[in-house]
Formats: sequence, C-alpha cells, structure tokens
Amino acid sequence: MSEQQSAANAFACYAVGCPCWPVHKRGAHWLCVPHAAIDDPHAWPQVTTHLRAHSWLIKALARAQHIDPHEWAGGASVDAAAFVSRHGRPDLAPKRYPATRAIHDRLTGQDVTQSRTLDETASAALWVSRVRSALYDEAIKAAIAKAGRPAEDAAQGCRA
Ligand SMILES: [Zn+2]
Repeated sequence: MSEQQSAANAFACYAVGCPCWPVHKRGAHWLCVPHAAIDDPHAWPQVTTHLRAHSWLIKALARAQHIDPHEWAGGASVDAAAFVSRHGRPDLAPKRYPATRAIHDRLTGQDVTQSRTLDETASAALWVSRVRSALYDEAIKAAIAKAGRPAEDAAQGCRA
C-alpha cells in the first residue's frame, strides 16, 4: 500500500468496492461498521456484495438524513415506506414501536422501567438509525454464514 493509495482511500472504506462511509480505524486503514466487525479480510467480499446489493437503500438513507423534518412528517416518510416496499422490504418502512429502558431514579433510589413510543414516521433520524443498523447486521450475518463454521456445518450435515 503506497502513500498515494492511503490518501486516496481516506474518504472510503478500505474494503475494495465498499459503498459505505468509513468510521473505524484499524491499523493504518479506515473501515465502515460492518467491515470493521469482521476480523477475517477473506470474508469482506461477502459483506461488500451484500452492501452493494443494497446501494438503493444506502442512498435512500443518505437522502433521508437531509430531508426537512416537516417534509418527512408531512409525507416523505410515506414515500419512504412505498420505496422500501417496491424493493421488497416492507419490513424496513418507517414505523411506530414501543421502547423501554431501565433507569435509576435518583429521588427514590429505585430502578424503574421507562416506556415510550418511538415514531419513525415523525423522525427521519430514528428511521435511518434503525434501518442502517439492520442493514449492517444483515451484511455481517451474510459474511458469517458464507464463512461458515466447520463444526456447525458437520453438525447440520448440509448447508442451504
Ligand atoms: Zn466497508
């Protein structure tokens, strides 16, 4: 790796052909989240393939980050739902869902569970965060499935 190549790659994930923004530094190289999660570079192409197959989603998430919040709540979130459905992924549409977390109440000294509803149809940032995490998880799982684990393969007898 020459100095020139390192400089050229400063704004791209080190994995060849990866469409994602690099955020983790490993040694001299910057990697995106899913590539940084895979230690064996031989499994990286599987991650890249999955990400490139979802470039439509990566671009949509990038656009959604810059949509006016009023536009998002006023119809763009519905467009996003239609868009992911057209790509066969209605599960990724903006949605409302309950979220709970344990918090320590300093007044009473008690641990209490706080519940609230997260509304992605009102917040593009919430939608981008969940869908990007889902995409990265899928890319990592795709690489792990491809790499396989000899013991598991032997136990299963065959692979799908
Ligand atoms: Zn990458």
